[in-house]
Amino acid sequence: MKKKLNRYLVTVSVLAIALTLVFTSLIFWKEMQTEAMDQVKSTVSLIASYDNGESPDAVANLESYIAAWVQPENPTRITRIAADGTVLFDNEAEAGSMVNHLNRPEVQEALRNGTGEDTRASETMAGSVTCYYAKRLSDGSVLRGAYTIRGIRNIFVRVLPYIAVIAAMVIALAVLVSWYLTVKFLQPIRDMAEKPLAIRAPDTYEELQPLLDTIKSQQKDVIMAATQRQEFTANVSHELKTPLAAISGYAELIETGIASKEDTIRFGTEIHQNAERLLKLINDIIRLSELDLSAGAQEKAEPLDLYAVAERCMEELQVEADKYGVSISLTGRKSVLRADRQEMEELINNLADNAIRYNKPHGSVKLTVEHDGEKAWLRVADTGIGIPKEHQKRIFERFYRVDKSRSRATGGTGLGLAIVKHIVQGMQGEIQLESEPGEGTTVTVLLPYRN
Ligand code: ADP
Repeated sequence: MKKKLNRYLVTVSVLAIALTLVFTSLIFWKEMQTEAMDQVKSTVSLIASYDNGESPDAVANLESYIAAWVQPENPTRITRIAADGTVLFDNEAEAGSMVNHLNRPEVQEALRNGTGEDTRASETMAGSVTCYYAKRLSDGSVLRGAYTIRGIRNIFVRVLPYIAVIAAMVIALAVLVSWYLTVKFLQPIRDMAEKPLAIRAPDTYEELQPLLDTIKSQQKDVIMAATQRQEFTANVSHELKTPLAAISGYAELIETGIASKEDTIRFGTEIHQNAERLLKLINDIIRLSELDLSAGAQEKAEPLDLYAVAERCMEELQVEADKYGVSISLTGRKSVLRADRQEMEELINNLADNAIRYNKPHGSVKLTVEHDGEKAWLRVADTGIGIPKEHQKRIFERFYRVDKSRSRATGGTGLGLAIVKHIVQGMQGEIQLESEPGEGTTVTVLLPYRN
């Protein structure tokens, strides 16, 4: 990044310097020509002003004025040309040796209009330009001034050392600025790599903020996911250990042979129950990891009537409801949506099973299946013990239980609601929970309705 920015800034600076050089030289060159022409004009006009046209030798006397005005430091060359083009006088060369000047544009123009001017490239000095200005005198001859300015190449050569110094300074500055910018730009990202969650937002560029936010939230997710995984592994080990320890203990008692027949039967029942618990736990863990892997793929989704699925689940749960002395009912109507049948059965079973297990004697569980144009919903309302506010957010976490002993005693694994949440998320659905301790709990699952 530093190299790239460096190259970019240096290229831009060099280009800017080159363009400035070309344009300033051209403008400077044009200005010099105008200046030169003005100088020639004023010199020629000044000398010509001594020709008042009154005395016959006024023009002849001009030559002495020329000698007076055109000093060595004044580089204007003065030539007097007769109306037929013959050179009568020149302050730099022998007039007799000079060629006829009649075809010179400025002379032609002056003979015709009184004054004439022209700017021509010098034949002798490459890249130099001469400005000519001619004025017709009272005797019909023409007074001409010429001013040669050094070529544009010379200007380049003259300014080049300065430009080189400026360019070196600008390039050094560009390198410095690119270094500073890169360091400043990368700092928050470096900070982030070193101290993942401690990013100081106010110091960063505004434009960088969305990127920082995304990285920050992803880092948070990763850290949380890692923490969750660790917690889950620790919980699983702990949950497996408890029934296994019980099984091992009871089996040992039987092994010693000191247990009476009744005790052996009791221990056998304990072993059986704990083994069942273990099986249920392992099944739920496997199911969760399956759901994790498929992550909402909905491969086995098919059109199915949620009401009919609920009806079948209710029949199966009837035995358990009777065991707890709880009545169970279903209302609503046929609601066909695309879903995985096994997942829908698990969803209804887990919710209704909780509603029965955390109920009160003579309580009720009411299932409702409904839909509108956009959503289908399953509502499970019970008249049970309810869930205190502070626990409501957390009961969907794996192994989170409000009352551990009640959960265990009723055959809970602490994973039922985690499975429900997983299924609903996979279908882009939503879970709503209303609960009042001592009054009851209502869980509503809203699912996208596309049959
Ligand atoms: P469990 O196997 O322990 O029932 P869940 O994941 O199904 O695990 O539920 C987590 C906890 O949420 C339960 O242990 C219980 O404390 C609470 N809970 C769930 N459903 C209900 C309900 N209908 N009424 C009261 N408490 C509930």
